[in-house]
Amino acid sequence: MPMTRPTKRSPTCSGAGSSMGWSDPTCLGWTPADWRTWFSTRGRPGFRGDQVFTWIHRFGVTDPSAMTNLSKDLREELARELVWSGPLSVERVQRSVDGSIKFGFGTADGHLIESVLIPGSGRDRRKYTVCVSSQIGCALGCTFCATATMGFLRDLSASEIVAQIHEILRFMAAEPDSWDLGERPRTQWLTNIVYMGMGEPLLNLPAVLQSVAVLSDPAGLDFSSRRITISTAGWVPGLRELAGHPDFAGQLAISLHACDDGIRTRLMPVNRRFPLADLREALLEFPLPARRRITMEYILLADVNDSPAHARALVRFCSGLRVKINLIPYHAYGPASQFSASPPARKAAFTELLQASGLTVIERSSAGADIDAACGQLASSERSREPQ
Ligand code: SF4
Repeated sequence: MPMTRPTKRSPTCSGAGSSMGWSDPTCLGWTPADWRTWFSTRGRPGFRGDQVFTWIHRFGVTDPSAMTNLSKDLREELARELVWSGPLSVERVQRSVDGSIKFGFGTADGHLIESVLIPGSGRDRRKYTVCVSSQIGCALGCTFCATATMGFLRDLSASEIVAQIHEILRFMAAEPDSWDLGERPRTQWLTNIVYMGMGEPLLNLPAVLQSVAVLSDPAGLDFSSRRITISTAGWVPGLRELAGHPDFAGQLAISLHACDDGIRTRLMPVNRRFPLADLREALLEFPLPARRRITMEYILLADVNDSPAHARALVRFCSGLRVKINLIPYHAYGPASQFSASPPARKAAFTELLQASGLTVIERSSAGADIDAACGQLASSERSREPQ
């Protein structure tokens, strides 16, 4: 059934036995272990929890009455005891000329969050990436970013993060002729999930890791954690916490954008608290699996961070780190934006210098710029919506 606003309070997952210290208003963010605990505390066999998890996450069924391998009284108990509506509703869908689709999702407490579905092009035309949000607004105040203009409103729950994926899969199912999916089952429609939407994921790490656990569980979507990327502006305590997390096997991306402390602090105030030397030390200590590389995101801003000297500083910062560089074109998010994109010749010279030093450089064409869905553009719609 369509996910609409919650109509009643549910038990929280911490009540269901989660050891991660989070509290989630709906069961969409429960792992199989949470489900097993919920059933066993009610005197039911724990394996029923695995069955419910599979219905929800592998088949996208969120109506207990349709879970046909459960008894009638169990289906009624599930419907009666838990919240099955929400936690997000589709409020807005905007389509870019490049095929990207930006979704505005309403939360139960009246906020709007945004996610972007980005189809690949050319050889990658059958790839579909989703950029998800992890917070409503952001406290870190990067000066090139639209989300920063909202300030920080609150963290998203694991359910709200997982729901972004579920709602986008539901949207894709409703338009089967719009996608080049071949015979792929629902669990393989999406190829990458990136935590690069609204918010700093490492400031909401318990819910982010809980959502990764749910999305990658083999009993559900079975999304390979190698195709899940968590991006951070350089919140060093979160990096250290993530490094020590035994279950995290995803990719790491750093929003770097400058390798001079003065410039980076101007772009990203978080650098005042955790300057480049601290960030580099945390990255050197980050336990990378073999053949895995950290992605360095670098938005090229005209006359700010795009000179040959800036490129050489980037080379020095990356020395000794296993990295690849994503060069991202800047997209202004409104008339108040104080930056502009680097001209092509400057970008080419910057790229050449990095490549000449042996770095792997990927030049991104930021998707969805015409609908404010490109990097740094999310969140503008929140400003026009008052919380209830
Ligand atoms: S770029 Fe990321 S960390 Fe910086 S303000 Fe925007 S959402 Fe927050």
